[in-house]
Amino acid sequence: NKTSLTLLGLGAMGTALAHSWLAAGHPLTVWNRTAARAEPLAAKGATVTATAAEAVAANGLVVVCLLDDASTAEVLAGTDLAGRDLVDLTTGTPAEARTRAEWARSRGARFLSGGIMAVPPMIGAPGAGAYVLYSGSSALFDAHHDTLAVPAGTEYVGADPGSAALHDVALLSAMYGMLAGAAHAFALIRGEDVEPKRFAGLLAGWLTAMTASVHGTAERLVSGDYTGNVVSNLAMQVAGTATLLRTAEEQGVSPELLLPYVGLMKRRLADGHGDEDTTGVIDLLTSRRPSA
Ligand code: NDP
Repeated sequence: NKTSLTLLGLGAMGTALAHSWLAAGHPLTVWNRTAARAEPLAAKGATVTATAAEAVAANGLVVVCLLDDASTAEVLAGTDLAGRDLVDLTTGTPAEARTRAEWARSRGARFLSGGIMAVPPMIGAPGAGAYVLYSGSSALFDAHHDTLAVPAGTEYVGADPGSAALHDVALLSAMYGMLAGAAHAFALIRGEDVEPKRFAGLLAGWLTAMTASVHGTAERLVSGDYTGNVVSNLAMQVAGTATLLRTAEEQGVSPELLLPYVGLMKRRLADGHGDEDTTGVIDLLTSRRPSA
């Protein structure tokens, strides 16, 4: 007896989610603005409705996976959410999720916000490492956990509806920092006697090894002591970055991806924190926010 549910939005991600629920035997009702995208799912047994309102009326559990919060507002505007369990997997900001939660509550729905940490091919593929961050109604999460766990793993991060989006965006932001570093590295070796594929293996291994440092950063943030167990102190690291910048210059590579971070390290050093590691950079980034 698998829970039946409704899914609004059949883009790349929504379609992957739909296939995973159908494959697991969940009765599924779907709606998409462009109706043609629902046809392959109808062939696999999904019920297709002409309007979003009909799809919402069909089931107690309603999952939304649309482009952005504005499209979610537009699609849900004409639907009756009273008594519904609304799970919003659309990527948005923490404030958007909080506002959407309040909006859903005022219409009589329980609300759960989700942040999908996966690309569509990872959905419904056990062992691919896909998971969804959830925050908001824990009662909704508990009631529908088995259904929500079908497409990907689940990670409930708290009652604040904005928390999933905050986690999602923090993880994505870190990813872009990593991708920026990789772009600079490939720019340095380009046109040189370096085999890019072999280099990629070295790069992936190095980045993987260095990610362990985030645990030390967390420990320092929690203890407030940025000088304990420091392996590479800031004074040494700033000196080292001069070599990085000279090498970029020698190679004719723009330093524009490196400069912002190096600039923050230098500022922290100039403030007299040469015996710390790089944790103090976080203080500079959050200096306008009142400390908790
Ligand atoms: P797509 O661009 O493939 O699909 C967008 C979906 O939103 C389509 O169903 C589209 O309908 C619908 N849509 C857009 N605007 C409106 C509107 N004004 N009214 C009604 N429907 C609208 O995006 P994805 O499926 O890839 O992404 C969906 C969500 O999942 C996004 O929030 C994205 O950030 C998130 N996500 C995606 C990942 C990915 O790798 N793809 C990874 C993690 C999260 P139509 O078919 O009619 O155009």
